Amino acid sequence: MEKMKKIAILGSTGSIGTQTLEVARTNGDLDVVGLAAGSNVKLLEAQIREFHPRKVAVWTEEKAKELRVMISDLDVEIVTGMEGLIEIAEMEESEILVTAIVGMIGIRPTIAAIKAGKDIALANKETLVTAGHIIMPLAKEYNVKILPVDSEHSAIFQCLNGENHGQLHKILLTASGGPFRGRKREELANIQVEDALKHPNWAMGRKITIDSSTLVNKGLEAMEAKWLFNVDMDHIQVVVQPQSIIHSAVEFVDGAVIAQLGTPDMKLPIQYALYYPERRFLPGDRLDFWKLKQITFEEPDPETFTGLKLAFEAAKRGGNIPTVYNAANEKAVAKFLNREIRYLEIPEIIGECMESIEKIDAPNVEEILATEANVYELIESRW
Ligand code: NDP
Repeated sequence: MEKMKKIAILGSTGSIGTQTLEVARTNGDLDVVGLAAGSNVKLLEAQIREFHPRKVAVWTEEKAKELRVMISDLDVEIVTGMEGLIEIAEMEESEILVTAIVGMIGIRPTIAAIKAGKDIALANKETLVTAGHIIMPLAKEYNVKILPVDSEHSAIFQCLNGENHGQLHKILLTASGGPFRGRKREELANIQVEDALKHPNWAMGRKITIDSSTLVNKGLEAMEAKWLFNVDMDHIQVVVQPQSIIHSAVEFVDGAVIAQLGTPDMKLPIQYALYYPERRFLPGDRLDFWKLKQITFEEPDPETFTGLKLAFEAAKRGGNIPTVYNAANEKAVAKFLNREIRYLEIPEIIGECMESIEKIDAPNVEEILATEANVYELIESRW
């Protein structure tokens, strides 16, 4: 029998996590050795019974206690907290770590996994946005692959396959434009949580759905692309492509553009990362160009979606400023979802935090996390 690939997943109960397990279920030849979730022990229990991991992590002792009772008939080790996440990341049995956890909490486990020689199937964009200057050189040093899971980055990765990276001229990062594409700033003043949670093409977690509506997600993706593909921000162009058919493209020095197209299904990039460089059959809808008829393009509107403009500014300033951008957005989105602030205050808060927090060049992990804490404190005191 062919050797089974061994994987561990951080954030197994989330949108990317459950789709990763769906890929494992369909293919039947991935050995899921470790799982980590935050608090959804009910779903985690079902995943444990189906995939038989050796070790699982939940965030709190309280949740661990609950889970212990639920799976008392099984021989599974349960670990907790940051130490638990790191234990799952470093598991001796695993070959690939899928980082599908949300937030900067992903940085330390990702570093631990790289140092333990695991390839990373990276969904958690916050890790590269805030610590790309640490992660990318470390991956090179330990000779591990960083395999992008985000659909845009997977597309770029696929377009660059077999090409000379030195001849890459520009990244064309596509964006659906979100539910408010075409609207002007004043039309966004009264947007409610329910409106922003309606994404036209992709079904995703709540935070990333809001980020897609503000184009902050595209800003984070641009920063992620900068690190993954070693390009500067002036060579990343955001192109609005409302049907989400072109997942992104690259332009080479001779002007040739290569794009990756497909129906919007996250299982494709997830599966590609897990089996790279092999391609597997993927059930589901296929692109039908006869039915599709047209693919359209637009320029993003930086005056309405100021979050996108601020991302480019943050990346150019560098140091801990992308961390400020990311942390301010996280907190602002949480407050918006809690109905504590208005929709347009999200980019306003990001911009004000970028002005107020002191810049640190090349921050280490402690300084990145301290920056996050400072941003949270500032937002709590001002808004
Ligand atoms: P979800 O909110 O759907 O899932 C987040 C996951 O993280 C859940 O499993 C959650 O567990 C877990 N989690 C949260 N806090 C902790 C914690 N303290 N300890 C352990 N686990 C924790 O997010 P998504 O799947 O949408 O996104 C995950 C990452 O992937 C994000 O960085 C996002 O930007 C990125 N991404 C997502 C895409 C998508 O299509 N959804 C596309 C590309 C990138 P629980 O629910 O049990 O608390």
